[in-house]
Amino acid sequence: MARRRQIFEGKGKDIFEGPEPGTIVQHFKDDVSVHSGAKTGMITGKGVINNRISEHLMTRLSEVGIPTHFIRRLNMREQLIREVEIIPISVVVRNVVAGSLATRFGLEEGRRLDRSIVEFYYNSDDLKDPMVLEEHITAFGWASHQEIDEIIALSLRVNDFLYGLFVGIGIRLVDFKLEFGRVWEHDQLRILVADEISPDTCRLWDADTDEKLDLDRFREDLDGIEEAYQEVARRLGILPEGGVTDLEIPTIGAVRNISES
Ligand code: UDP
Repeated sequence: MARRRQIFEGKGKDIFEGPEPGTIVQHFKDDVSVHSGAKTGMITGKGVINNRISEHLMTRLSEVGIPTHFIRRLNMREQLIREVEIIPISVVVRNVVAGSLATRFGLEEGRRLDRSIVEFYYNSDDLKDPMVLEEHITAFGWASHQEIDEIIALSLRVNDFLYGLFVGIGIRLVDFKLEFGRVWEHDQLRILVADEISPDTCRLWDADTDEKLDLDRFREDLDGIEEAYQEVARRLGILPEGGVTDLEIPTIGAVRNISES
C-alpha cells in the first residue's frame, strides 16, 4: 500500500497530500520551537488539543462568514484543509501590549491598546521573520494592494469575533498571528484564513489573574503548560472525552478513512 506523500515538515505541523485534488492533510504534532528555533521541545498532547481548538475556532469563523481553509477534522491529530497558495506573510493583530511589541518600544506588558494594531512579518526562519510594510509586500510581489486591504479587513473581523468569544470564557485575547492563502473560485481569486489558530499562535491570558494560557509558558520556562492548553480547550467546551489520551491512528489508515467517509 502506498504511503501518502509528505509535502512539508513544519515545527508544529506536518502537511500531507490530501485524498482529493485541492485538499491537504494537516497533522498537528507535540513538537514546539520558539525564538526562531533556538529553543525546542515537546508539549504532551498539544497536537491533539490544537487540532480541536483550531477546528473549533475556524468553524466558528466560517459560521460568521469569514472564509477559512478548514474542511473537517479527520482524527485526533489531523484535519482536512483546502489547498491554497500561501501568502508568505504572518499577520499579527494586537489588543494588549506583550511580546515583541513590549520589547521594541520598552513598554510594560498588559496595557490595553487604544486601538488594535495589525502588523506584517515576512515568513523566513533564516531572516528571523523580519517585520515588513505593505510597501515591501507589494513591491516584492507577495500580494497586491487589493489583497492586503482584504487581509487587513479579514484580520480585524477575526479579531472582533475572537476577542468577544474569548471574553465570554474569561480569557483575554492579547494578540495572535494569522496566515492567509489564495484559492481560485469561479474564476476569481479569493483570500482565506489558513494555517491554525491555537494557543501556539495566540496570547491568551486568564481575564481575572493574567495567568498565561499559551506558548509563552514554554518560552518563559513556566510549568503547567499541558494544563494551560487543556484549560483553554475546557473553557471552549471541547476538551476531548477522556482527556488528551493520544489514540494515534496509523498514518496510512487516515487517508483511507477520508475517502471512505
Ligand atoms: N506568533 C506566532 N508565530 C510566530 C511569531 C509570533 O504564532 O512565528 C504569535 C505569537 O504567539 C503572539 C503574536 O504572534 O501571539 C505576536 O508575537 P510577537 O510579535 O510578540 O513575537 P514573540 O514575542 O512571539 O517573539
